[in-house]
Amino acid sequence: MKYDVVVIGGGVVGLATAYNLAKKGVKGAVFEKGYVGCGSSTRNVSRFRVHFWSEENTRFAIESRKRLLNLGKMTKWNPLPVLGGYLWVIYDEDVMKAYRTNNDRMWSRLGIAGRVMERDEIREKYPYLNVEGVIGAFYGPQDGQVHHDFVTYGYCSAAIRHGFGVYEGADVKSIVVSGNSVTGISVNGKTIEAKKVVVCAGAWSNSILSSAGVQLPLVPERKELCVIEPFKRRIEPFIVNTKMNFYVCQSIRGEVMGSIEYPMVKGVVELRNTLKWAARFSRVLVEMIPSLRYARMMRMWSGFYEVTPDHSHILGRDPDWPEGLYVGTGFSGHGFMMAPFAGEVLAENVAEDKVHPLMKPYLPTRFKEGKEIKETMVIG
Ligand SMILES: Cc1cc2nc3c(=O)[nH]c(=O)nc-3n(C[C@H](O)[C@H](O)[C@H](O)COP(=O)(O)OP(=O)(O)OC[C@H]3O[C@@H](n4cnc5c(N)ncnc54)[C@H](O)[C@@H]3O)c2cc1C
Repeated sequence: MKYDVVVIGGGVVGLATAYNLAKKGVKGAVFEKGYVGCGSSTRNVSRFRVHFWSEENTRFAIESRKRLLNLGKMTKWNPLPVLGGYLWVIYDEDVMKAYRTNNDRMWSRLGIAGRVMERDEIREKYPYLNVEGVIGAFYGPQDGQVHHDFVTYGYCSAAIRHGFGVYEGADVKSIVVSGNSVTGISVNGKTIEAKKVVVCAGAWSNSILSSAGVQLPLVPERKELCVIEPFKRRIEPFIVNTKMNFYVCQSIRGEVMGSIEYPMVKGVVELRNTLKWAARFSRVLVEMIPSLRYARMMRMWSGFYEVTPDHSHILGRDPDWPEGLYVGTGFSGHGFMMAPFAGEVLAENVAEDKVHPLMKPYLPTRFKEGKEIKETMVIG
């Protein structure tokens, strides 16, 4: 079997890329070492937002949000969107000033102004929140949640419907390079021929890229999460504590979910949960929402962020790499929301050699050219 393109990794990014390639009539397949979505794509909290500190990420997220909200029509799987907004709770005057400035200068200009709130307004609107030490908040009404399973499996089934293959249990051991071009992949002891190879392997991207002599500035970080028993739905927005790098939200079923950045564990380590994380998370949760004091944790899990030095994704190719090698990785904790647009522009790049103006800042060459994106609005 000889393909035009093979995609390594059946996460939301690989599948969105596959779907867009398939729509262009490209003959290809996705190879996933586990099962579809087993990486970070079904381990996240499924939130999307448009507010980022950098204009590049903000513009990219605006485009991606449009596609996310329209995804049901494209994939025939309803992603169950809910626009609950993001509430960034702020404890520092300088941080408050920065949000105000970004809202006035950039987000308003891009048509996504949010609402800067004083403490009294927060107390009135969200009476369950403890506002001790809080200076104010920024509320992004354009933001919300979808269902990660329906997005990921929706892309998968749509890619298959348009003629792409999706193979699970297909652990790609290496990218085969001949001369200065990729010629395929080696998987389960067989060589699969392909003219182009797209690596969308999330936290594992570098281990597969090393077989083609390529390394990206990408460090996996393990993140822990938990789900608490369901309650009547009242936590409408996704609440971010900007001081503690903590977040909490409620699912459409009423389960309370959240995370805190602690402890920092880097590398492709074992995916497990720790008591010290649970203790820290519970303490901050109860400080912020005292009425959850007796709530019971039901389930914990963990997953990877694949973090780049500028907390922004890497799309496309470096001309110094073997011909035919592309990447879509390094989403640094916001790959789920960026995937719809990332898959579209990456497919265009792979199939037609075009670089969409909004994709240009994300080329891998930016690191050696000193053109890193200035992004610090990251959570977890
Ligand atoms: C706790 C947590 C919360 C998050 N919350 C959000 C959120 O609310 N919103 C948001 O936008 N993002 C969020 N994210 C980030 C988001 O989940 C990721 O950025 C996104 O899923 C990345 O998708 P991906 O397809 O690049 O990677 P993955 O989903 O990790 O997919 C990569 C796939 O490649 C496969 N693979 C690896 N090596 C090989 C190989 N050699 N051969 C074959 N297959 C291989 C893996 O098995 C995996 O399935 C969160 C992440 C975590 C961990």
